[in-house]
Amino acid sequence: MRILIAEDDSILADGLSRSLRYEGYAVDVVHDGSSADSALQLQTFDLLILDLGLPRMSGLSVLRKLRQRHTALPVLILTAADSVEQRVEGLDLGADDYMSKPFALSELEARVRALIRRNGGARTSVLHHHRLAFDLNGRVATIDEQPLELSARETSLLEIFLSRSGRMISKSQLVDLLCEWGEEVTTNAIEVYIHRLRKKLEPSGARILTVRGLGYCLEPETKSESADSAATI
Ligand code: CA
Repeated sequence: MRILIAEDDSILADGLSRSLRYEGYAVDVVHDGSSADSALQLQTFDLLILDLGLPRMSGLSVLRKLRQRHTALPVLILTAADSVEQRVEGLDLGADDYMSKPFALSELEARVRALIRRNGGARTSVLHHHRLAFDLNGRVATIDEQPLELSARETSLLEIFLSRSGRMISKSQLVDLLCEWGEEVTTNAIEVYIHRLRKKLEPSGARILTVRGLGYCLEPETKSESADSAATI
């Protein structure tokens, strides 16, 4: 899950990005509106956290341009406590939620989880796959109710696969979803994460298939006779 934070207050941006990274999200930070606008045109994100008071281009303009491109990206706006008008305008322009400054990080994290979950179309907060269960709120995986120990990266990877069960994901998409700009992550690193995750998932019956030359896919639970063949994906 990849989040873009557009916030010109660098102390707040640092605090936000640190806590969201700790939660296992890949986070990119921009400090002005026009950088946010460029980033949104270049890269796919799962969520935008958008301060409305940004230099170079206002948050509302960023939001307006985003919605003009017909993207359904969830947007959480950050507003000054007293700016009811901005908040209303932001929601009218298609923001999904807002937080008034100052806010508690724990509340922001809860709203981030809710927005990402809503966008993923999940009706419940627990995803099940074979004997594996994944709680989207706590981001905890269990096999037969026994906790499964996963690193932050492995947790993110599992979340990506579970939310796209049966769909092929290329290595470069995984690199995009997991990693941040400037971070050197090779496809080899992805292979290592997948290898580790596969081992840990083995007792659950969940299988990550390799689609040769293309990427990976979480094997759907109701598989057809030919699902073993990568060619059917
Ligand atoms: Ca600001």
